[in-house]
Amino acid sequence: MTLVDSHCHVAEPEFDADREAVLARAAAAGVGTLVCVGATGPAEANAPTVALAGRTTPVEIVATVGIHPHHASTADDAAFEVLRRLARTPGVVAIGETGLDFHYNFSPPAAQRTAFARSVALARERALPLVVHVREAHADAAAILTSEGARDVVIHCFTGDRTDAHRYLDLGFHISVSGIVTFKNADSLRDAVRSIPLERLLVETDAPYLAPIPHRGKRNEPAWVRDVAEAVARVRNEPFETVETATAANTRRLFRLT
Ligand SMILES: [Zn+2]
Ligand SMILES: [Zn+2]
Repeated sequence: MTLVDSHCHVAEPEFDADREAVLARAAAAGVGTLVCVGATGPAEANAPTVALAGRTTPVEIVATVGIHPHHASTADDAAFEVLRRLARTPGVVAIGETGLDFHYNFSPPAAQRTAFARSVALARERALPLVVHVREAHADAAAILTSEGARDVVIHCFTGDRTDAHRYLDLGFHISVSGIVTFKNADSLRDAVRSIPLERLLVETDAPYLAPIPHRGKRNEPAWVRDVAEAVARVRNEPFETVETATAANTRRLFRLT
């Protein structure tokens, strides 16, 4: 079993100059699969991510399509038609990232709630898993996921505490941990990571953002999901291979990768 980066944005322009080298470094680091997440602008901005879906060398790439909470104010009927169409492309395995970000509020909260609820409904309609981004909105996000009947959910780049984690775990959801777990001031996150059942745990880079220590401040890349998994293994006091195998199997099961 090889490592899986359950959430990265390798279609972004940050990788245009050296994408092939980035993918080769991921493969060399033992990363076998990347879940490449769209949702970096209006609905049409998912197209470059979808174009990468279905690659198998040097790493397997699958894609998700969505509208990020930052861009929720663009999520009109036409945008959802674009998502619906893109979601039918082979290699597109999930809807997202969607959710609520009340830290930045780049889109008004009301628009975020509406776009999030519609995205959950789209995932349900297409029977696809859902990639969810939540910042400073855990209670609201859990309420919408519950009322919209969400299933097969991953809360990506989880930054909450043990109580927040268990709110999602009690609903049957998965939790993905990013390089933030390596940051000095992340003690409450590390406490939460210790309490997540192994079979619900995923790891991710969220590249090009959030490079883990010892790469902090640089452009992040999928090869460094190894640093994230190593940190998670240390925090949980488990062998690296245990975390590597379990997080890869969990990601494959959640996104129904064969
Ligand atoms: Zn996010
Ligand atoms: Zn992301």
